[in-house]
Amino acid sequence: MAPLPIMLCDQRKLTPSFGYVFDPRWLDLHDSLLSILWKFIKMNSVSGHLIVMQLAKTDVDPYEGIAVCKFEIDMQRLHVDLGLSLKVIRESITPNLLGNATCPNFRFCRRCLNRGYHGTAYQFESVIRCPLHGDILETRCRSCGMSTAYHLNVSILNSPFRCKYCSNLYGTNTPNFIHKSTFKRISRRAITRTRILRC
Ligand SMILES: [Zn+2]
Ligand SMILES: [Zn+2]
Repeated sequence: MAPLPIMLCDQRKLTPSFGYVFDPRWLDLHDSLLSILWKFIKMNSVSGHLIVMQLAKTDVDPYEGIAVCKFEIDMQRLHVDLGLSLKVIRESITPNLLGNATCPNFRFCRRCLNRGYHGTAYQFESVIRCPLHGDILETRCRSCGMSTAYHLNVSILNSPFRCKYCSNLYGTNTPNFIHKSTFKRISRRAITRTRILRC
């Protein structure tokens, strides 16, 4: 039997032709890029290493990773490979004009994570409470107390919806982003208002 061709990491694509699946219905309005990638990783059992190598605009150490900003992420590749619109991708990335007004650590609402949702605006320092539940946004894992840098690298990507230090879920149940109900109009409005007013 002929030997299988060696598939180098940079030759692979995150596309259906390589066996990967992605359904935009798993997403919610203004889902953050981390949230989008976590869903992709969970459904495809793909490694964070491959994701970083595919999405970085330049050669990077995947363990160092890349910032969630348009200067470091190949948005066109995300658009083509995952079939996401450029609008959805733009809305998932921290706006550059906010500069230091964003939280350096992953900041989340536990109840939102139960449906697999982490909004882009949850990283904005000016957003204190979840626009959907009113809960104060958190940065520390309730199990081990550790915070995780909001940076796309192997360790955060390989722990979808879980603390990378202790592996416990951030939410109270496994994220149910496949069978979730769609956001009601009032929720969509709250998210949009939070996002638009803060940047
Ligand atoms: Zn929430
Ligand atoms: Zn932890």
